[in-house]
Amino acid sequence: MKKITLRAGKERSLLKRHPWVFESSIARGGADAGETVRVESADGAFLCWAAFSPQSQIRLRAWSFDEAERIDAVFFKRRIEQAVAMRARLAIASDAWRLVHGEADGLPGLVVDRYGDTLVAQFGSTGVERWKAVIADALLAATGLTRLYERSDAQAREWEGLPVQTGWLRGEGETALTIREHDWRLTLDVAEGHKTGYYLDQRDSRRRFADAVKQYGCKSVLNCFSYTGGFSVAALAGGASEVVSVDSSGPALERAKAHVELNGFDASCHQAWDADVNATLRRCLAEGRRFDAIVLDPPKFAPTVAHAERAARAYKDINRLAFMLLSEGGLLYTFSCSGGISPDLFHKIVAGAGLDAGVDGYIIERLSAAADHPQTVCFPEGDYLKGLGLLKR
Ligand code: SAH
Repeated sequence: MKKITLRAGKERSLLKRHPWVFESSIARGGADAGETVRVESADGAFLCWAAFSPQSQIRLRAWSFDEAERIDAVFFKRRIEQAVAMRARLAIASDAWRLVHGEADGLPGLVVDRYGDTLVAQFGSTGVERWKAVIADALLAATGLTRLYERSDAQAREWEGLPVQTGWLRGEGETALTIREHDWRLTLDVAEGHKTGYYLDQRDSRRRFADAVKQYGCKSVLNCFSYTGGFSVAALAGGASEVVSVDSSGPALERAKAHVELNGFDASCHQAWDADVNATLRRCLAEGRRFDAIVLDPPKFAPTVAHAERAARAYKDINRLAFMLLSEGGLLYTFSCSGGISPDLFHKIVAGAGLDAGVDGYIIERLSAAADHPQTVCFPEGDYLKGLGLLKR
């Protein structure tokens, strides 16, 4: 087993069970991509077993802090069974959920979503790439399913020096699927959709939004960054009669339109605008339009803390415009899925946006990813999705 020795003092985060070691923390040692290595402190104390990633800034990802544990097929079987068992304890209002959420499930770089009887996996680190076949078999064994599609096309692959890989890893057949979320039916294509096909992490927030639309009697709703219209269906379910989905993806909007009818709502209650959100907000403002409820669920503006400042300006801008477009007493559901923006910073950004717009808001909800996207206390980066539900004061 190859040994990696850290520089003095650089063992601190591993001792707190944080699973990453950056390149700059390493004093000596190297290994092949994905190879399991023994990580030691400068004075030779065992720290963890980890996967080595020769090209990534995150040079090591810890598999285990237990010196007695062996990193083998049984290890992966155990971790995957634990992830499956954790989800079985949750009350998930859907037949689609995140089965493995990377670091939080002790499998750094691995994301697995389950859509009905189909699993979709993203192998985002050299460690899980190396163990791909073992992981695939363990996933099928732990779930009793036969179909596993690979969507290893996320940007993280590039940072890891790994090529894009997509296609059936186990089983075969249709990639177009229908899932149930709450009382709604939604369609996706695991081969073509964003990420693994759908944004499962917003499941709980979509339910809460539907309830809030009903509670506060919102009729007109602007769903910004709508993707395939999950929040639009929620708005219609909450009794909205005039819903606009805005996104820059034509295929996503086609699906949003189809979802309105699939769920038994009147197509005339929904419009899909293929447009840039920022420009759309400005245009609506110039036209004097108002909406009873607005959703802002933008893509990751800040992939890392280094991008936080520019991202903060972008978040502030759309939130300021949304505040101004809200009717009196209107409802704003605003999100950030940037790991580089903490919940606290996001709150400050939204406060600044309100200040600039001359609008205050009552905070009625603090939102985060659904529990099948777990956060652990040792890995604060897991807190990527945060949102606020506000009522214009
Ligand atoms: N709210 C969605 C998920 C949104 S993901 C849901 O519940 O499923 C972010 C979306 O923003 C993507 O669909 C992407 O196509 C869209 N997008 C990214 N930049 C955009 C822009 N400048 N204007 C409009 N849409 C944009």
